[in-house]
Amino acid sequence: MTQVTVKELAQVVDTPVERLLQQMREAGLSHTSAEQVVTDNEKQALLAHLKSSHGERLEEPRKITLQRKTTTTLKVAGSKTISVEVRKKKTYVKRSPAEIEAEKQRELEEQRAAEEAARLKAEEEAKRQAEEEARRQAEAQKAREEEIAKAPVSAAVEAEPVAPVVAPAPVVEERKKEEPRRVEKPARSDEDERRDRKHAQHRPSLKDKAPAPRVAPRSADDESEGFGRRGGGRGKAKLKKRNQHGFQSPTGPIVREVSIGETITVAELAQQMAVKAAEVIKFMFKMGSPVTINQVLDRETAQLVAEELGHKVKLVSDNALEEQLAESLKFEGEAQSRAPVVTVMGHVDHGKTSLLDYIRRAKVAAGEAGGITQHIGAYHVETDRGMITFLDTPGHAAFTAMRARGAKATDIVILVVAADDGVMPQTEEAVQHAKAAGVPIVVAVNKIDKPEADLDRIKNDLAARDVIPEEWGGDTQFVPVSAKVGTGVDELLEAVLLQAEVLELKATPTAPGRGVVVESRLDKGRGPVATLLVQDGTLRQGDMVLVGVNYGRVRAMLDENGKPVKEAGPSIPVEILGLDGTPDAGDEMTVVADEKKAREVALFRQGKFREVKLARQHSAKLENIFETMGQDEKKTLNIVLKADVRGSLEALQGALSDLGNDEVQVRVVGGGVGGITESDANLALASNAVLFGFNVRADAGARKIVEQEGLDLRYYNVIYDIIEDVKKALSGMLGSDVRENILGIAEVRDVFRSPKFGAIAGCMVVEGIVHRNRPIRVLRDDVVIFEGELESLRRFKDDVSEVRAGMECGIGVKSYNDVKVGDKIEVFEKVQVARSL
Ligand code: GDP
Repeated sequence: MTQVTVKELAQVVDTPVERLLQQMREAGLSHTSAEQVVTDNEKQALLAHLKSSHGERLEEPRKITLQRKTTTTLKVAGSKTISVEVRKKKTYVKRSPAEIEAEKQRELEEQRAAEEAARLKAEEEAKRQAEEEARRQAEAQKAREEEIAKAPVSAAVEAEPVAPVVAPAPVVEERKKEEPRRVEKPARSDEDERRDRKHAQHRPSLKDKAPAPRVAPRSADDESEGFGRRGGGRGKAKLKKRNQHGFQSPTGPIVREVSIGETITVAELAQQMAVKAAEVIKFMFKMGSPVTINQVLDRETAQLVAEELGHKVKLVSDNALEEQLAESLKFEGEAQSRAPVVTVMGHVDHGKTSLLDYIRRAKVAAGEAGGITQHIGAYHVETDRGMITFLDTPGHAAFTAMRARGAKATDIVILVVAADDGVMPQTEEAVQHAKAAGVPIVVAVNKIDKPEADLDRIKNDLAARDVIPEEWGGDTQFVPVSAKVGTGVDELLEAVLLQAEVLELKATPTAPGRGVVVESRLDKGRGPVATLLVQDGTLRQGDMVLVGVNYGRVRAMLDENGKPVKEAGPSIPVEILGLDGTPDAGDEMTVVADEKKAREVALFRQGKFREVKLARQHSAKLENIFETMGQDEKKTLNIVLKADVRGSLEALQGALSDLGNDEVQVRVVGGGVGGITESDANLALASNAVLFGFNVRADAGARKIVEQEGLDLRYYNVIYDIIEDVKKALSGMLGSDVRENILGIAEVRDVFRSPKFGAIAGCMVVEGIVHRNRPIRVLRDDVVIFEGELESLRRFKDDVSEVRAGMECGIGVKSYNDVKVGDKIEVFEKVQVARSL
C-alpha cells in the first residue's frame, strides 16, 4: 500500500499543511506534524470525515463533468488577431456503494488467491507455470486497486480549478484511459490535443512557426503531426533524433513545473524553464510578438509559451507575497476599547464645517500653545467621557472614495441637518451612504438658534427615510445643536460616545500599528506627507511601514497640532514623513518588521499597478484606432491630469469622468500628484490625450515632447475652468476664450534679504522674457506655491521693464518673502484665443 507523509499529501491536494493537519484532527486522526506518515486507511478516514462535514449525501449526482475554458488572443504575423478557445473537460463517474463493496470483496479474494499461489509455488514445482500466471493476474489487479485508491487525490488535483479539495471520494474513478503523453502534459487531455491540432490550422503563429522546443521534445505523435512535416527553423541533429524515435515515447523529457502568477517577466519565465531568455524571446518573436527580456507577460501568454515549450504550468495565486506578509504580521495582545472615528456628513451649508470647527476650537485648542496651525484631515478631542476622533474631510466624496477602496475608517456618521432647511438631496445621499456602509447615524439638528428652526419637521422628514428617532421607538439619536453658538455640542459628543459604547469598539494597543490613509500630498521640502488614521496597534516613529504601493521608515510623526509625537495608538490621526511616494486616501497602512519585505511587497504592488496603467494605455490606443475607424463609435476625449494635491486630483478625476453623454465621453488615462514629467507626456502621446496641469507645470523633458509632438498642454488653477473647458470641448462649442501664455521663466539662484524690500531673488532668466508688469507665479518642484505680481525687477541697480533669457536680474515679489533657491518665477499673460481641443 502506498504511504505518504502529511506534507506530501498536502502538496498533492494543494492545501496548506496546517489546514490539512487541522482537518485530520477533526477526523479523529492523531497526526501532529508534517513529517508523519499517512496510511491509506487514514486517508480514507480523512476523506470520509471531510465528505460528511461537507454534507455529501448518497443521492449526489453520479456523474460530474468539469469544464474549464480559456480564451486567448493570438497575434498573427499579419497584424490580425484571432481568438483561441481551449476547452478542457473531464467526466468523473461515481459508483454506487454496492459496487464498491463488491470491488472490495473481489480485492480480498484475489489477495488471498495470490498468497495461496505463492505458497503452492514453493511446494509444487510442477504447477509453477499456472501459479505464476495467477500471481501475475493478482498483482495486476492490486496495481489497479492502488490506482483507484489514489484516484481521489489525483482527481482532486486534476479538477483543481473547480472542485474543492475534498470532493471526489475513493468511489470516484476516472473513466478515461491513461495517456502515455500524460507524463509530459498532465494538464491537457488527449481530447484537448486533438482540438489543439485542429486549431493548429488557425494558429500559424504558434504551431507552424514555432521552433521545436529544445528543452522538452514533444512526444512522438505530436511531432509526426504537428512538426514532423515541417522542418524549418530546427537543427539537423534535432530532426534526426526525432526521426530516430519515430513513434516511441521520447526518452527523459525535461518537464519543469513553471509557476506563473498574474504576471511574469520574460527573464523569470525563462529561468523557471531553465532556458536562456533569448530562447523565449526568439520563440515569442516567431509567435508574432516581439518582446524584451524585462517585459512583463500576462498569465495567459506566459502559460501558452510554457506549454508550447512542453512544460507543466502551475498557476499560483498572485497574492502569495501578500499572504506571506499577512502571515508574518503578528497581532497579539489584549484588546481594549478604543475611541470612535466620526465622519460629518450632510447637505451643503447645513453647517458641517462650522460644527467641525467649533468642536476643534472648543476642545482641541484648549491648552494648546499656539493653537491649531495645520489642517491634516483628522483630529481628536478629549471629553470627560472619552475620546472621539473626527475625520475632518467633510463631504461625501472622501467617505465614498475610502469605501470604494474597501477601507472602513468611519465608525459613526454625524448627519448635520439645518433645522431651518430640512432634508435636502445630499442629506438623503448621506443617509444612503451610511446605511450602505452599515455605519450608525447620530443626527445633529443644526442652527437650532434660528427662530425658524423646526426640530419636529426634521424628525418627521428623516423618519420617512427610515432614520427613526429613539423617542419614536427607533435607534437614532437626534441632538439639537448650534454650531454657531455652541448649544448642544457637548450633548452631541455624548450621544456619539453612547453610540460608540453600543458598538463595543476594540483595538490592541500593544500590537504593531495598522491603519488607513486619510490624505496625502507632496510637500515642498518635506517630500511625501501622509495623514494616517491608526486603527489598531501602535505606530511609532522609526517603524517601517507599507502603505498601499508605497513604503518607508517613519522619519517623523506629527499630531493634528503639528507637534512631533513619538507614537500613535488606536484611533489617533497622525501625519507621517518618510514614505517614498504619496499613497491614495483609503490605502491600508501596516507596520512591517523588515524593510526587505516592505520593499518587496511595495514593488510588487507597484508592478501590478504599473501593469494596470500599461493595460489602460494600450486600450486607450486601441480605442483611438476604433474611433478613427468607426464613425458610430463613442468619441473619447482622453486626458492626462496632474495636480498639486491629491484632493484636487480626485475631485477633478471624478468630475471629469462624469461628463459626457451617449456620444462622447471623457477618460482620464493617467493622473497623479506632482509636476508633468516626460512619462506623462509620453502617456499623453501614446493615448492621444490632452495634458492638463492643475497648479503644476511641465518639466523640461515633458515640454520638449509637448513641443516636438504638438501635444495639447494646458495649465489651470481653478477646477471650474477645467470642467467648463472640457464640457465645451465635448459639445464642440469651444470658442474664443481667455488663455494663459507663459512669457518667461526665471530661476532663483540666490536670495538676499533687504530691510527695505524684504526678500530679493537673484535670478537667471532661463526662458522667454520676464516683464515687470505682468502677473507671476512662484513654482517649487513644478508645483505652484504662490500667485501674484512683481514688486521690483532690476538689472544691477537699475529698475527695468523686462529682462531677456540668459540675463541675470533681481526680483522682488509683492507680499511673498518665502522665495528659495531653486524656485522658478513664471511670468504670464492672459490672451484671447480661439480654442480647439
Ligand atoms: P457646510 O457647507 O455644511 O460646511 O456649512 P458651513 O459650515 O459652511 O455653514 C454654512 C453657513 O451656515 C455659514 O454661513 C455658517 O455661518 C452658518 N451656520 C452654521 N451653523 C450655524 C448655526 O448653528 N446657526 C446659525 N445661525 N448659522 C450657522
